[in-house]
Amino acid sequence: MAKIIENSALLMGQMMSQPLLISGLLVHAARHHADTEIVSRRTEGDIHRYTYADCHTRAKQVAQMLDRLQIAPSARIGTFAWNGYRHLEIYYGSSGSARVCHTINPRLFVEQLRYIVNHAQDQVVFFDTTFMPLIESIQAQCPTVKYWICMTDADHMPHSNTVNIHCYETLLAQESGDYEWPTFDERAASSLCYTSGTTGNPKGALYSHRSTILHSYAVALPDSLGITARESIMPVVPMFHVNAWGIPYACPLAGARIVFPGPKLDGASLCELIEQESVTMSAGVPTIWAGLIQHVIAQKIKFTTFKRTVIGGSACPPAMIQAFEKEGVQVIHAWGMTELSPVGSVAQLKQKDYSKSKTEQDQILAKQGRPMFGVDIKIVDEKGLALPHDSVAFGDLLAKSFWAIDSYFGVTDSPLVDGWFPTGDVATIDSDSHIQITDRSKDVIKSGGEWISSIELENVASAHPEVAMAACIAIAHPKWDERPLLVVVKREGATSDDATLKAKLLDMLTEKVAKWWLPDDIVFVKQIPLTATGKMAKLKLREEFSSYTWPA
Ligand code: ADP
Repeated sequence: MAKIIENSALLMGQMMSQPLLISGLLVHAARHHADTEIVSRRTEGDIHRYTYADCHTRAKQVAQMLDRLQIAPSARIGTFAWNGYRHLEIYYGSSGSARVCHTINPRLFVEQLRYIVNHAQDQVVFFDTTFMPLIESIQAQCPTVKYWICMTDADHMPHSNTVNIHCYETLLAQESGDYEWPTFDERAASSLCYTSGTTGNPKGALYSHRSTILHSYAVALPDSLGITARESIMPVVPMFHVNAWGIPYACPLAGARIVFPGPKLDGASLCELIEQESVTMSAGVPTIWAGLIQHVIAQKIKFTTFKRTVIGGSACPPAMIQAFEKEGVQVIHAWGMTELSPVGSVAQLKQKDYSKSKTEQDQILAKQGRPMFGVDIKIVDEKGLALPHDSVAFGDLLAKSFWAIDSYFGVTDSPLVDGWFPTGDVATIDSDSHIQITDRSKDVIKSGGEWISSIELENVASAHPEVAMAACIAIAHPKWDERPLLVVVKREGATSDDATLKAKLLDMLTEKVAKWWLPDDIVFVKQIPLTATGKMAKLKLREEFSSYTWPA
């Protein structure tokens, strides 16, 4: 237990005391990067552009709108929205005026959406026109919501027989933008994100202004995502998926140009926007990039400005990193989670790594990275005892951070273990603090008392040119408790029949992993189910294979 020294014994520093508030990010961008552009593909279909100065004025109008609607401080403001400028205005207008911006993942099941809106007690819900049918299906069971506001102008307002909807642009037009951001305690709640709740009900991570600002600094660092005023950044990761990994905060902090892709997230649309808008960097989950890279290869597209992309949210297969490298795009592999705001670690070389071979460097960069300042990590065994950082021992990964939750919203029991947050991931850590996630603890395969890393098997299999996606799951086994089953989706145009591809994959795996890790069977499917955040839904996949029996 660290010793605490009382204030009375301390000589206090004589520095200005200013609370770390989210409004400050946009004030900074509007003052010092006033003409830097924010470009958005809109649900209306066109491309919209304006500047940080315009965004600031409209965010203040949002704050005034919430005042006029008599929404009190700390009230939760729900959003069902794509990545776009109006969503950004709501981020700042709500948090900046001491309300809580509650982004909701519209891809969740309707029951989960109702649960989340009610649990958060949202008072206002802003939504893109796309989500009108969804709003109609939940609104009757969401009694706390006083205003449903559609994020469009009067000309594009959808019609609803059941919901009394208000028009965003009409409400905004009533406000002058002549508004001064309030000041308050930096520990006040700023935004709320629910985990997708693959097991049980979703749980809310309630971020503070302080944690968000500190996370933004960390995200912008060069050894982190490297967000600067020189970049034109396209966050593909949705603003409803852990605040697009903090990019909507880190961009104004750095003065980076933003390009929002709106609702069109297919490979062709993303490529088009990257080229048209001279995007230099992006961020998203592997499944999104799988679509983009296929399109790039098939259409022989050559990027002119696109240089880097952050991939995280689930393990990025080394084959994907290499495929991007061939196109001149550097992949930055990052790990994190909702409860960590979300960024915990980023794969970047250290100075000493530059003397290593390309293969060794690639191996480091394929791991989940090392923690940036502000995050600490450790791995422990079943008894909670710390394991060595020797890249061999693997155990439950725990984290401690300025931007990690200490409890869930509305839940009294603390999830912490001796002040550490159990991430639910199983990992190794090497002597340079690079983390390698071997599995989510829910997905581990325990064979004869030993763990087999499903992620490692997937990484090897997805390197095969005829494989589009591979998931490895545990299936009960009479002798070994569990054994790995590899489920594969073939790439479009794959020519091998199932038996041939199976043999090829087993050959590949035999070269790369221990014999007892080899999957006992490989099966081919049309598609692997995805979660609401675009990750392989292994729980669902295990359910689909619940009656699978091993070949004799
Ligand atoms: P959800 O539980 O809703 O999917 P998160 O997006 O918070 O919510 O998911 C966090 C989890 O995603 C982590 O605990 C980890 O299992 C997985 N994850 C995130 N990034 C990576 C990565 N780079 N490699 C492997 N797993 C990752």
